[in-house]
Amino acid sequence: MKYLELVEIYEKLEATTKKLEKRDILADFYKKCGKDLYKAVLLSMGTVVTGEQDLGVAREMLKRIVIKSYGVSEGDFAKKFKETGDLGLSAEHFSRNKKQKSFMKKELTLDHVFDNIHKLTEVIGKGSQERKVDLIVELLSHSSPEEARYIVRTVTGDMRIGVSFGIVRDAIAKGFDKDPKEVESSWNVSGNFGKVAEMAREGKLKSDLEVFTPVRVMLADRAGDLREALETFEKPFIQTKYDGLRLQLHRDGTKVKLFSRRLDDITNQFPEIVKWANECIKAKSCIIEAEVIAIDENGRPRPFQFLSRRVQRKYDIDRISKEIPVQANFFDLLFVNGDSWIDKPFRERWEKLIKIIDVKKGKFILADSLETKDYKEAEKFYRAALAFGEEGVIVKNSEAKYQSGRRVGYWLKVKEILEPLDLVVVGGTWGEGKRAKWIGSLLLAAKSGDEYVETGRMASGLTEDQMEELTKKLKSFIVLEQGNEIKIKPKLVIEVGYEEIQKSPTYPSGYALRFPKLLRIRDEKDKGPNDINNVKDIEKLFFKQRGKVRKN
Ligand code: AMP
Repeated sequence: MKYLELVEIYEKLEATTKKLEKRDILADFYKKCGKDLYKAVLLSMGTVVTGEQDLGVAREMLKRIVIKSYGVSEGDFAKKFKETGDLGLSAEHFSRNKKQKSFMKKELTLDHVFDNIHKLTEVIGKGSQERKVDLIVELLSHSSPEEARYIVRTVTGDMRIGVSFGIVRDAIAKGFDKDPKEVESSWNVSGNFGKVAEMAREGKLKSDLEVFTPVRVMLADRAGDLREALETFEKPFIQTKYDGLRLQLHRDGTKVKLFSRRLDDITNQFPEIVKWANECIKAKSCIIEAEVIAIDENGRPRPFQFLSRRVQRKYDIDRISKEIPVQANFFDLLFVNGDSWIDKPFRERWEKLIKIIDVKKGKFILADSLETKDYKEAEKFYRAALAFGEEGVIVKNSEAKYQSGRRVGYWLKVKEILEPLDLVVVGGTWGEGKRAKWIGSLLLAAKSGDEYVETGRMASGLTEDQMEELTKKLKSFIVLEQGNEIKIKPKLVIEVGYEEIQKSPTYPSGYALRFPKLLRIRDEKDKGPNDINNVKDIEKLFFKQRGKVRKN
């Protein structure tokens, strides 16, 4: 199939805001895709991956590629980009106005576009940036202006065609004459609409769990506090919330596979867990879930960064597994000896889990748990978890089924809220698309002596009202603009909440905030740049977090 056929679909989708129309456009298209169905479905959603893998192409890099591909000046590019607020439209414009036409152009197929973009996820190591540039440049050298628009947008992950999860689900259902509920159940298991569409077409829509096919994981909501969480469920079940990596362990006979929350295969990174699984699990086949954490010599949790080193490491695994030992804390069971357990209540799943695991102390263990509705008891459990250095607790509805891929309020997480910080805005970036008129992300700084040092970026989570208010207040303090980057005089103070303070080599303060959130914009009469928190405060909070002193 020609890529141009998909581009025509994109244009139709972009031209309407009506959901039913979008569904019908896609349903008709899917029916005509033939052997390209899998790739076409993913591309129609603006992606080529089924997990959350990153293409690893920074926006700045893509801008440079567009500039280079069409031989335009930085100034012309910046002007067009500011005007359109969209890299895709900018690429389309320059492609249309390109003076030198290429004679080597060949018609792009959907396959070719999919494969080149998919390869971006695979190239790693030395020279990978150049290789990525080549893959994109090659596509742009053959593309028409309209094709360039959507290729660039696919790489940025910002399609602007208004295709949501529900629209794709309903389009597959309509195109292949299936019930949308059936399509969704099937997606819950495979997490891959490309595969689901193929199964729907073949009349073999499956929603049965299968060992070695990762299942989308159940997610937690946030509770206001412990009391609220306890009151939400008639029969609450409390478990320690470990701060590590979600692990879905699949085992059949002696074969074991480990998947991450994003459904990536991470078996090779944790050989010790594979070994323990074979020693400790007393079931022929199963799918069970754990949170893996890195631990120190006293068995206490180490910061998440240690675990990330384990996940990223592709070689010398034995050495790093000695340097950074891990512990798997099991908390749920989805499948055992040929049967799915996801529709059974949590208490039953837990009781079965206890039965099939022979605990290996400190290594392959069951999550600390307590079934109680008594606040005092629950609070004691919660405090003990925090004192040990864990993140908090998850309060679960012991009567609820396992709801794949969704936040449905059956699990409520309770964590300590760290003291908010007052920081000053020293920079930002203009938004894109319909947000181009607002400052969309903020660079924040704390004080250090008489200076302001950067301590992270608040890049998401701002509402449009907040962006508008911030832009109004910050506009007169802008001192420099470069492309969509802005430098701002340190004047405006905001109160910022966050989930965690991390050490960071990126920011001059040495610290960065994880998931910063705007709590309020300070009135200048209330707090000015002189009254903000300094780096020492951040350092103190870093050591205080989770009730223990960290070594690093
Ligand atoms: P969050 O990532 O903050 O939304 O919290 C939910 C995550 O907590 C889950 O996806 C798990 O990775 C993790 N987690 C840690 N301990 C548990 C537990 N006992 N039960 C369920 N999830 C847990």
